[in-house]
Amino acid sequence: MSYRFATNCIHAGQSPDPTTGAIMTPIYMTSTFVQSSPGVFKDGYDYARSKNPTRTALESNIAALEGATTGMAFSSGLAAMDCVLHQLRCGDHIVLSDDVYGGTFRQLDKVFRHLGLETTRVDMTNVNEVRAAMRTTTRLMWLETPSNPMLKIIDIAAIRAVADEWAKRAGPGHGVRDNALGPLGQPIERPVLLVDNTFASPYLQNPIAQGAHIVLHSCTKYIGGHSDLVAGALATSDAELAERLKYVQNAVGAVPSATDCFLMLRSTKTLHVRMQRHCENALAIARHLSTHPKVEKVIYPGLESHPQHALAKKQMRAFGGMISVVIKGGLDESRKMLERVHLFSLAESLGGVESLIEHPAIMTHASIPPAARAKLGIADGLVRLSVGIEDAGDLIADLDEALS
Ligand SMILES: *Cc1c(COP(=O)(O)O)cnc(C)c1O
Repeated sequence: MSYRFATNCIHAGQSPDPTTGAIMTPIYMTSTFVQSSPGVFKDGYDYARSKNPTRTALESNIAALEGATTGMAFSSGLAAMDCVLHQLRCGDHIVLSDDVYGGTFRQLDKVFRHLGLETTRVDMTNVNEVRAAMRTTTRLMWLETPSNPMLKIIDIAAIRAVADEWAKRAGPGHGVRDNALGPLGQPIERPVLLVDNTFASPYLQNPIAQGAHIVLHSCTKYIGGHSDLVAGALATSDAELAERLKYVQNAVGAVPSATDCFLMLRSTKTLHVRMQRHCENALAIARHLSTHPKVEKVIYPGLESHPQHALAKKQMRAFGGMISVVIKGGLDESRKMLERVHLFSLAESLGGVESLIEHPAIMTHASIPPAARAKLGIADGLVRLSVGIEDAGDLIADLDEALS
């Protein structure tokens, strides 16, 4: 029997504990599992890095929420990314959107520099730019939609079509072919499309249904939803990729604790309800601020003024909890506002039940050189809101007060 999203949030991957009937999945605080005879163990449980029952429940839950066959949990979003990059070989080419999460670019540019990966960053709202960036050696296409902090919407199906065009033209893979390497023995020989679905959450869009081969989450954000943990996830319905990724998940071992898995299972039970309220509150605030005299511009995919509003309507179930706002008067005025908010907390990160506000140019995106920031549209007056699920009227009053 297949269920709809809300039912899956609460039940997917979980059933009462067979020994006691406990309705909630226990936190299995164990590193190892007893074997009845050497090499004979229950349901694949031999050692907890490889498999832990609390994590198994979470991974099945995430797979169901993303409409994927396989889910994998990691100790952070960037640990999930690390698992993906270990699939590549020296000289492979990656096309990524120009405003990917800073930590994503840092890992690629610094940690994996020794692999000699080639990268091309393009504005993926323009499919022609993506097509022009492709090479016969392109093995990974990486995008975030909505993007951070400009909330650009990228057409997942259109990008997948480019991946398919180039799959036919892909040249032979770099590096060794060696069956002794197990699932990693063959190089990837086609462009794999990965969508970082952190900003949308599985409630707003399921990229696999739209053509992504792999979905990545920083569960630290909406999936965790309460700003109390750091974790990541991958989901895929591609059997070959699933086998390779699971191999590295175990071989590298950046897995979350059973306690964090339990907290995430508790969080996904309310994901649909939280997301609904995040979206309602954000739309109300975006509409209010777009008529505010101190505001130059509101960027929110749910507003008709957003350049990809039509695509957002087609691709997403609603428009999310993130808003970017350009305050008139640049740095001085936006700083004043950020010092005056009470209900919104001045902090990095996003996706929790409480509202946060931040200044990308000084905080999350400070490592980008000023010229590159300007090119992306990250003005000194730009402020990013992660709208929580408090009372919308109270949130609006707080922003009005801070702007007055
Ligand atoms: C936070 C974030 C990440 C990194 O996740 P961590 O859990 O902090 O490692 C990746 N992508 C996006 C879009 C993010 O917001």
